[in-house]
Amino acid sequence: MARYRDAVCRLCRREGVKLFLKGDRCYTEKCAIERRSYVPGDHGQTRRTKLTNYAIQLREKQKAKRTYGVLEKQFRNYFKKAASSSGVTGEALLQILETRIDNVIYRLGFGASRAQSRQLVRHRHVTVNGRIVDIPSYNLRPNDVVAIKESSRSLVPVQAALEGVGRRGELPDWMEVNEKTFSGRITRIPSRDVIPTPIAENLIVELYSK
Ligand code: SF4
Repeated sequence: MARYRDAVCRLCRREGVKLFLKGDRCYTEKCAIERRSYVPGDHGQTRRTKLTNYAIQLREKQKAKRTYGVLEKQFRNYFKKAASSSGVTGEALLQILETRIDNVIYRLGFGASRAQSRQLVRHRHVTVNGRIVDIPSYNLRPNDVVAIKESSRSLVPVQAALEGVGRRGELPDWMEVNEKTFSGRITRIPSRDVIPTPIAENLIVELYSK
């Protein structure tokens, strides 16, 4: 499967915001965007272009894709699914992204970043309702119990992620975690106001609706 392999901090610098792609490093002074808050590339420091509406919409889409680690084709499919749902398209799009198992593992604190959570899933360390799920894009439904497999609970990345969980902010109120059993669940499909991702999804809807 296609995958972005370049330095991920460049993605944050390109979007001009922290996308929190590197786990605990994002919360330290080593964060690249704290040290070099300009666009990467030779002319990054001198580039002063007024963005067109299209460019603003495009950047918002890129920000969403990069935040959740989704490539273009899959993101477009998510948009189609959201657009055909009965809800508000932008909100439905974020709901699909938020209920991906890699995102839920990250928010529950068992992975330091979405990329690390994705790897935990791919390497078969994660179960849903007692069965191994190794597809990072798997969408959880309310009350599905997601857990780190018993034999994987002592893995260094899992332990390190749990140690750093306090730095990553509060658990959203539509999730529950049980650190003793390394498990958690989403209690409901979140509405937009409780999804803590700073994305203007209306701009993405405008972009795809052209
Ligand atoms: Fe982005 Fe984290 Fe790199 Fe900072 S350290 S630029 S937030 S990925």
